[in-house]
Amino acid sequence: MNTSLMTSTEFYPMCLEKGDLKDFLTKISTNSRPVVVFGASIIGKIVIDLLDILDLQPLCFCDNDVKKQCQLFHGYEVISFVKLCADYPDAPLVIAAGRYFNDIKQQLTNAGFKKIYSDLDVISCIDFKKVPFSKVEKIVWYMAKLGKLSEIRDFPAGSLHIPRLNVVVTSCCTLNCEHCSSLMPYYETQSNFDVSMIIASLDRIFECTNLIYHVEVLGGEPFLYKDLPLIMNHLLGSGKILHIDVISNGTILPTDRVFLALKHKNVSVVIDDYGRLSVKKESVVNALKRFGIDYRINKHWAWADLGGFESRKRSEEQLTELFTKCNFNSCTELLDGKLYRCPRSSHGTKIGVVPEYIVDFIDILDLTIKEDFFKEKLRSFLYDKNFIRISLLQLKGN
Ligand code: SF4
Repeated sequence: MNTSLMTSTEFYPMCLEKGDLKDFLTKISTNSRPVVVFGASIIGKIVIDLLDILDLQPLCFCDNDVKKQCQLFHGYEVISFVKLCADYPDAPLVIAAGRYFNDIKQQLTNAGFKKIYSDLDVISCIDFKKVPFSKVEKIVWYMAKLGKLSEIRDFPAGSLHIPRLNVVVTSCCTLNCEHCSSLMPYYETQSNFDVSMIIASLDRIFECTNLIYHVEVLGGEPFLYKDLPLIMNHLLGSGKILHIDVISNGTILPTDRVFLALKHKNVSVVIDDYGRLSVKKESVVNALKRFGIDYRINKHWAWADLGGFESRKRSEEQLTELFTKCNFNSCTELLDGKLYRCPRSSHGTKIGVVPEYIVDFIDILDLTIKEDFFKEKLRSFLYDKNFIRISLLQLKGN
């Protein structure tokens, strides 16, 4: 599974026409619908939330994907590029498209559009110090991902934040995908992880962290895990998590008890859509709508072959470069009472295809590690690591 959101900073510069959007947005009246958002995607939803902080709404969405056109996206019409050119030739546009930003900007520029902005430009229009935290709460995780959390909130010195924590609840899965990044098909015996061990591990992490920006609850298939409601209650009860995504492959329709446990403003269900294999996708979506649970669908386009586990004989310098460039280097994964920095590392170690490199994980339930030292060990594990030893073994062709 690969559900990581690619933020836009890597793909385009901020403030294409510096100041223009701010002037424009501050001059118009609130409750207006001043801009068209290009990209009916997760970043598009963030732009809705950003405009909402300014008491504004988008005019509509535009998207090149014909399947999204003529449908509503969070209540807004999604129009085609042809209709955009015909009906709104002078509209300011906010591109909400991550890695496709440059392509879309080119498309719009070629068509004569001049006022082209990004989600970062909208962020630059907000004076976060004047906005109550309750109003910005839903985009805090995105601000954290952009490294802009300090614009929103002051945290005490010594605070420990975890950018992303995967909580693996089961190695059971209904599918058997050859290139599964969590190596599920390679478990000899698939099983559910003990709920009390997961809760004890989470408690130890919560005790020494101030904030966790983003949690993913995943497997395997988490809807096979009967104690999912207990895990959700425990995560939500901690008060330390900004957002939780539960990742499903769309093959299981859970019971109402599970849906009730997922119904929370900080929870989204992410359905990885494997086409005809995701046999329950539509019934899950209908139930999510019925319960009022936020969700998104990740269309699965292609598999990446992450390679085997044979040694690449890399130097520490090469490992550091590889780790620095990795899109997932802010990730941590809790598996079976141990905290790792990568799913390949956690599952590879668990199934025995990777040696147990003791520097690549923390044994969360090792009570011989005293609390103060544990917090520093965790901080160092999160922020001081230049590479993990497993990088010696993976990424085919590199
Ligand atoms: S559906 Fe199951 S086997 Fe396939 S990628 Fe997801 S976790 Fe792995």
